[in-house]
Amino acid sequence: MGELLGDWKRTALCAEFTKDDVGREVTLMGWADTRRDLGGLVFVDLRDRSGIMQVVFDESVFEGDFDKVGSIRSEFVLAVKGKIMERSEDTVNPKIPTGLIEVKVREMKILSKAETPPFEIEDGSKVREELRLKYRFLDLRRPDMQKNLILRNKIANSARAYLSDNGFLDIETPMLQKSTPEGARDYLVPSRIHPGAFYALPQSPQLFKQILMVSGYDRYFQITKCFRDEDLRADRQPEFTQIDTEMSFVDADDVMTIHEGLIQKVFKDVMDIDIKLPLRRIPYQEAMDRFGSDKPDTRFGMELRDVSDIVAGSEFKVFSSVVKNGGSVRAINAKGCANILARREIDALVDFVKIYGAKGMAWISIREDGLNSPITKFMTQEEIDAIMQRTDGQVGDILFFVGDKNSVVYDSLGALRLKLAEKLELVKENTWDLLWVTEFPLFEYSEEEKRYVAKHHPFTSPMDEDIDKVVSDPANARAKAYDIVLNGNEIGGGSIRIHSSELQEKMFEALGFSKEDAWNRFGFLLEALKYGTPPHGGLAYGLDRLAMLMAGVDSIRDVIAFPKVQNASDLMSKAPTEVDKKQLRELHIKVDED
Ligand code: ASP
Repeated sequence: MGELLGDWKRTALCAEFTKDDVGREVTLMGWADTRRDLGGLVFVDLRDRSGIMQVVFDESVFEGDFDKVGSIRSEFVLAVKGKIMERSEDTVNPKIPTGLIEVKVREMKILSKAETPPFEIEDGSKVREELRLKYRFLDLRRPDMQKNLILRNKIANSARAYLSDNGFLDIETPMLQKSTPEGARDYLVPSRIHPGAFYALPQSPQLFKQILMVSGYDRYFQITKCFRDEDLRADRQPEFTQIDTEMSFVDADDVMTIHEGLIQKVFKDVMDIDIKLPLRRIPYQEAMDRFGSDKPDTRFGMELRDVSDIVAGSEFKVFSSVVKNGGSVRAINAKGCANILARREIDALVDFVKIYGAKGMAWISIREDGLNSPITKFMTQEEIDAIMQRTDGQVGDILFFVGDKNSVVYDSLGALRLKLAEKLELVKENTWDLLWVTEFPLFEYSEEEKRYVAKHHPFTSPMDEDIDKVVSDPANARAKAYDIVLNGNEIGGGSIRIHSSELQEKMFEALGFSKEDAWNRFGFLLEALKYGTPPHGGLAYGLDRLAMLMAGVDSIRDVIAFPKVQNASDLMSKAPTEVDKKQLRELHIKVDED
């Protein structure tokens, strides 16, 4: 057992002292980081979340049994009393903020011993992630992780302060909700009291925050967990955190303006970065046409060019037939790459776009001695000239072409654009490229379900001029929806909502719900909308992703204290686990053993 704290009180955190404190008697507490034992003189770096203080045990000054000092090992929790001294010149460490001072220890308590950790805390970043997550309590001691979580806390505090100052009320919404599957898969919670009935964990507070607008709360926010039972990708977690907001009596412009202020304040408070406002706004269609993405990274060019009109009558049937069938042929120009990309690298890029559904990718390499390409022999000189002009093709460039239905062309060239930018190091580091994508389509067609599904969610308002298209021409109806994009990542999204019960019913009709089905699922919303609903809209940020980008790390797991891995399990606590038969019986659940 470790020693007791007794009446010892900590003076301050380890790295909160400066040269001005020299001569002060202090009490410090923390973990033993590195240790150098020179016999009668032992140096220990004492660590806590503020940083490190060197503490020196000198046998001639230390009061007590010096063998105890010799027993200190990594990660022991110590309390020391002593005097702050200036370090001698040869021991000054300019790399740490407390590098000019040290504590000469008179008394020490070992508050807690530690077993040898499975990895050195300071080497944690080099350790396998599974091991880090299994011993998350140690991994979270690492200064890198502490920095990330402190930054995340700053973001949340800054956003909270801004929203409160702007009249948003923090109101909690239920975690146990009605299941209204439309979008992702729900996490279900069985009801003990209602056999066979289930709650769902919220995918987002969407309907409740809208109802708060109906109820006159005017402006709402909440920093809250949301749950979606989806297959995990690198930047997804089954539970994640939103900074969720909603406002009344506003249009899309009002919502975007207030959120520009929020993002500006967060960047200033957290990183002392000035974001210039207003942010650019790019309509969805333009984003797709220019960048092949609805979350374009505009830190570099290499924009897509549509060459469909040029190749529509071409002898190269692959292209002309695509255009005839309503698809398109588009190109990007990899500037100066003719001499950089070897043939085998080009072939690898052709394989790469296949991931995005492209059946193939054509290319033209523009060399000093002419064109090198598998397709130019099928084209007329006029076609080639027109393509060169459209794509700004010059000696040294390679043009890449994909011809297919539009969605495949956008996806594959959009991804190729990012891939090439990474390869060619076109992205300027430390730039914060923020923009809005607006005027999203209201619907997208789901091949799987053979029906239209809402692109954002079914409560999103169509644009005023497209209201008639909701039922008659859903493919071309645009929404009052907007996403905020940072360096090619969507960090938030929202919309103006439908505030009329009739239009909401029409929307459900367009989504293929019978009236009865719509009322069964969403009756409480349809009912509420009938009792005086203000025009309203909002936006939610993914806090994890925002924190990841601001922290400059590659994984959202590095900004979440206790994340789950790819198969949705928690390696530290081992959730999910089987439960007692008794618990299942109480919940009226029988597990299918096969
Ligand atoms: N509830 C939406 C979402 O989770 C955000 C919003 O429309 O405010 O994406």
